[in-house]
Amino acid sequence: MRALVYNGPKDVAVVDVPDARVEAPTDAVVRITTTNICGSDLHMYEGRTDIETGRIFGHENMGVVEEVGSGVTRLKKGDRVSLPFNIACGHCRNCMRGRTAFCLETNPGTAGAAYGFADMGPYQGGQAEYLRVPFADFNALHLPQGTEHENDFTMLSDIFPTGWHGVELSGMEPGDSVVVMGAGPVGLMAALSAQVRGASVVYVVDRAPDRLALAEKMGAVAVDDSKGDPVEQIMELTDGVGTDRGVEAVGWQAHDHTGVEKPGTTIETLVQSVRATGGIGVVGVFVPEDPGAATEEAKEGRFAFPYGDFWFKGLSMATGQANVKAYNRQLRDLIITGKASPGSIVSHELGLADAVDAYKNFDERVDGWTKVLLHP
Ligand code: NAD
Ligand code: ZN
Repeated sequence: MRALVYNGPKDVAVVDVPDARVEAPTDAVVRITTTNICGSDLHMYEGRTDIETGRIFGHENMGVVEEVGSGVTRLKKGDRVSLPFNIACGHCRNCMRGRTAFCLETNPGTAGAAYGFADMGPYQGGQAEYLRVPFADFNALHLPQGTEHENDFTMLSDIFPTGWHGVELSGMEPGDSVVVMGAGPVGLMAALSAQVRGASVVYVVDRAPDRLALAEKMGAVAVDDSKGDPVEQIMELTDGVGTDRGVEAVGWQAHDHTGVEKPGTTIETLVQSVRATGGIGVVGVFVPEDPGAATEEAKEGRFAFPYGDFWFKGLSMATGQANVKAYNRQLRDLIITGKASPGSIVSHELGLADAVDAYKNFDERVDGWTKVLLHP
C-alpha cells in the first residue's frame, strides 16, 4: 500500500510499504477515506522528537472497515467509522474512568498511545491506504453510512474533541467568557466548542490574519497580538476584569507578541488575563524535553511563569491530551443534527501523492493553509 513516511527533519515521502493487517484477534483493518494533517504532526516533522525513519504519520483517521479479527463483534466489513487518535485498551484503570488518553496497556509506563506518533507506542499512522486498529470494538465510533458530513466527521478523531476538552478542563459554565490562545485548528475548535456550550463571549488570540478571520466567522472576537500585548487588549475588552476561563491551544511552539520564540508565554498571558478564581485548560502540547531549544531551561522542557500570581488569584489549571472517546459520540450527534460544523475550517483536500507539499506549506504557515485533509 502507499503511505506517507518520515525520512528525517522536514523530509517526508510517499512510498510503498507492507499492507496493514490484522495482527491480534481484537484488531480491525480500516480503509482510510480521510486522514488529516495536524499541528501535532509538526513536532515530529520538524525533528523535535526521536521518531524513527520509516514510521507512517497520521493520527486523525476515518474510513470503512475492511477486515476484522476473530475477536471483534461490534464491527463488520463495510462499517463507516471514526478512529480516536488515542489507542486504548478499554479495561485498564485509566480507561475504566474514561481517561483513554492515558491507557496503561497500549503504551505501558508513559502517557497513552496514538497512531503514528513519537513516544506514544509502536503504532503506524493512517496517512496511508489502510490502518491497523487495535482493540477495534472499543476504539471505533460508528458513523452513518455513505459520504455525508465527511469533512465534519473527520474532525472527530482529534481536534473537535481536543477543543472541547480544553473548554471542559477550563471549567467553563454557560454564560462564562472565554479567551482562547491560538487560532490554529485546535484553537478554532475550542472557540466553536465554547460557543456550542453557551459562552457569553469568546476571544481568540493569534496574529495570522486568515486564522483570525475564521475565528470571527465562528462568532468569536479576534485579538491580534501583533498589535500589542494581548493581556492589555483582553483587559480593555473586559473592562479590567479579565475573562472567566482560558484555553491554551498553542503549546511549546509559542512566540511572544513581539515574535520571539518563548515557550510558556501563553500560560503567562492566561494567568494574567483570567479573573481571580477562574480556570485554565491547557491542550497545547508541551514537550518533556527539546534538545534543539535555544535556552538550557527550554532544553529540559522547563519554562517560568508567574506562579505567585496564579496562586494569589486562586486560579485552577488542568492539562493533557484529550480523551477523545469521552466526547466523540455526543460531538458526532451535534454534527448529524446540524448544531456544529467543524469542517468549516478545512482549507485543502488533497490526495496522498500531494502530502509532501502539503506538509511543507502547512509547516511554513503559508497563508490560507489552515486544515489539510488527505483522501488516500
Ligand atoms: P498550529 O500550530 O496550527 O496552531 C498554533 C497557532 O498558535 C498558530 O496559528 C500560531 O500563530 C499561534 N500562536 C503562536 N504563538 C502564539 C501566542 N503567543 N499567542 C497566541 N497564538 C500564538 O497547531 P494546532 O493544530 O492548532 O494545535 C495547537 C496545539 O494543540 C499544538 O501544540 C498541538 O500539538 C496541540 N494538540 C493537542 C492535542 C491534545 O490532545 N491535547 C491534540 C491535538 C493537538
Ligand atoms: Zn491531531
